[in-house]
Amino acid sequence: MLNRLKTDFRLSIITILGASALLGITPFAAMRFLQGNVVAGLIDTSILLTICSGMAYAWITGDTRRSGMVLAVFACAGAVAVAATVGEVGLFWLYPCLVTTFFLVSPRIATLLNLTSIAAMVAQSDVFQSDIQMWTFIATAIVVSATALAFAQRTHSQRERLEQLATIDPLTGVKNRRAMDEELNLAASHAERTGLPYALVMLDIDHFKKVNDEFGHGVGDLVLIDLVTLIQQSTRKSDQLFRYGGEEFVLLLPGVDGTGLEAVMGNLQHILRKKVKHPGGAISASFGVALLKQGEQVGSWLERADSALYAAKEAGRDRVVYSDTVYATDTSSPVGDSGLAG
Ligand code: GH3
Ligand code: MG
Ligand code: MG
Repeated sequence: MLNRLKTDFRLSIITILGASALLGITPFAAMRFLQGNVVAGLIDTSILLTICSGMAYAWITGDTRRSGMVLAVFACAGAVAVAATVGEVGLFWLYPCLVTTFFLVSPRIATLLNLTSIAAMVAQSDVFQSDIQMWTFIATAIVVSATALAFAQRTHSQRERLEQLATIDPLTGVKNRRAMDEELNLAASHAERTGLPYALVMLDIDHFKKVNDEFGHGVGDLVLIDLVTLIQQSTRKSDQLFRYGGEEFVLLLPGVDGTGLEAVMGNLQHILRKKVKHPGGAISASFGVALLKQGEQVGSWLERADSALYAAKEAGRDRVVYSDTVYATDTSSPVGDSGLAG
């Protein structure tokens, strides 16, 4: 539980809001009922119940986006409603809401929500004792919102940068293995829901160590960058390439099966051989291909592609081996080769 609070920023804000609502609003709600102000008491109670339900929903489902939106709207609307029923007290409640909106929803929606809440407050002229008080409220509420907006945007860009550092391979610019795990899981659950076929290609450059040894690491790096550029140019937008590690890459192909897959692989092999070059000539790669089976776990899917790749290496490299389909295409020699993997 503590771990979730530490790792999920929005959930921690929702929890703080829920706890503050319980501690801060409950006495007021009780007091309003005791004073006979039933309307104000009901408003307090409904704000309290909504915030607590939102908090419970976020904890149970993990969907902090939706509950964050509901809580932000309700907290602001609640402060305005309190002002409408008991006067200027609502102004004070609006300030924490103006700040928390930026932690619960996107900066654009938070700005819109804040401006709407400020306007809704000002529209109730009897909340303010004087014009000076009203203008002071407008100015301070805008300063608070602007400061929170600047802070939220800074955190947003820092979070994006961190996410990029954690998921993108700095040499080639493609997603790394960590991002791949996430995407493969998404693909597997999408396939389960929709029945869309998915193919996984594991490719490994042949004798890459020699390229480094003979021409230097810099040349090796350029080969990796060229390879990635070419694969990206010759695959569809929906296909995703990941750097699995070293000179090994994984290509995820949605909506491809059977003969379509053979055509894709033939094309890829042809392009790499023809276009990825180093001072000593062309490079070749070995490929292990596996189609996702119904209900299969990602681990087993990857393992089958890996075994197929291993079989391609064992069979002499520069070839494609398909897991389970009991054959390998060897386009490196005039005579076709067969292999079994997976
Ligand atoms: P095989 O055909 O069996 O795959 O042989 P290989 O030489 O390609 O495989 P091996 O695993 O023996 O060597 C992989 C090489 O890839 C060794 C390592 O120096 C190189 N490598 C890994 N990452 C990088 C990188 O980022 N840049 C460069 N230039 N080389 C890399
Ligand atoms: Mg290799
Ligand atoms: Mg390797």
